[in-house]
Amino acid sequence: MRFITYNTKNFRKIEYIRYLPEEVKREIDIVSRVIPFKTNNYVVDHLIDWENYLDDPIYILNFPNKNMLHPEAYQKVKHALENNLPTKELTEIITEVRMAMNPHPANQVSNVPHLNGRELTGMQHKYRDVTLFFPSQGQTCHAHCTFCFRWPQFTKELDLKFAMREIDQVAEYIRQHTEINEILFTGGDPMIMNPRTISKYIDYLIESKIPNLKTIRFGTKSLAYWPFTFIPEYNEEAGEMLAMFRRIVDSGYHLAFMAHFNHYNELGNAILSQAVQNILQTGATIRTQAPVLNHINNDSEVWARMWKDQIGLGMIPYYMFIERETGPYDYFSVPLAEVYRMYQQAAIHTGSFAKTVTGPVMSAAKGKVQILGIIDNPVNGQKYFMMQYVRHRDFTKTFQPFFMHFDKQATWVDQLKEVVPQEVMAI
Ligand code: SF4
Repeated sequence: MRFITYNTKNFRKIEYIRYLPEEVKREIDIVSRVIPFKTNNYVVDHLIDWENYLDDPIYILNFPNKNMLHPEAYQKVKHALENNLPTKELTEIITEVRMAMNPHPANQVSNVPHLNGRELTGMQHKYRDVTLFFPSQGQTCHAHCTFCFRWPQFTKELDLKFAMREIDQVAEYIRQHTEINEILFTGGDPMIMNPRTISKYIDYLIESKIPNLKTIRFGTKSLAYWPFTFIPEYNEEAGEMLAMFRRIVDSGYHLAFMAHFNHYNELGNAILSQAVQNILQTGATIRTQAPVLNHINNDSEVWARMWKDQIGLGMIPYYMFIERETGPYDYFSVPLAEVYRMYQQAAIHTGSFAKTVTGPVMSAAKGKVQILGIIDNPVNGQKYFMMQYVRHRDFTKTFQPFFMHFDKQATWVDQLKEVVPQEVMAI
């Protein structure tokens, strides 16, 4: 199967634009100068319902629209394009708009580790037992999600990328930090690399025989955006990719394939089922994760059905995230109270196997905060969120419940007022 990319440069030339009226194309052109836009022929031909594309969750997931930018920002970029401002001026306007959209939420830059006095700019080490690795060749995806929290990875102009290719230094860092037992290949999407490139990284790690390294994890949306990666009948390189997975498993590592699905519409075709079965046959485990997004999956029935479909295919629902404060956050965010109620309903309707989901969770600066419940205190008439860190920079602070004052509108933990120790007794 030939991979055809559609992006800002070529989207006017391709066949699918027959579905799009001029004004919609114009909007995509303007907004995509700020929000990286990329889709492909599988998404366009197999996932989007073009009869109702403006409400279609996968269309919204891939195609930027006017409401994703602040009205003033939209007008600025529109004005610059309509008046053919010189490239330098246009770039400055776009950079200014992007910088106002919090490109690095949760202070990710503070997680970059050092080896022998040198900064390892393609790694992050936030949690004790796991390190993230951003291989240089994996810093794009088969398509780009409009909500993406890693969007600066896809922009040339913002000098805010994490990336490196020196796997020897990554291996040495892991060897020196015996508390690390897991490496997460992330991006972008590591599965966008061809099997020869990714095998070089993987085989180096396997051959290094680092005693403390037990798990190799891939964070990827390739199953949703380009499942042909894992089907030899469609893609001549797929056999090599699956063989590399088998090498990992046969070498004694746990291979954790973390699949990102935002809607059950990404799960309903035979190509996807085939890809899932092929991966599972290598001995890998597939766990699933996604954020709750207004306009895309803000509905407990969508989540219940998505989890049930994943379980039916042999995958394990793992994380329900809360959308991070970055990019078109105002468009996609959902109040915490609403997300929690939705999680409850989705879990109730999924049944026993929903217990494998940790959610809803915010990836905040100190760690991953899970909402455990909303408590009504009949004595003082107050409401509280009960929360805990399921991951924390300081691992001794995990799994200790704490309370925050309830706020119906809040969409992130730092918008909530802390409950001080004296108040806890009243709860
Ligand atoms: S697949 Fe992941 S990294 Fe890639 S655009 Fe989507 S959210 Fe971002």
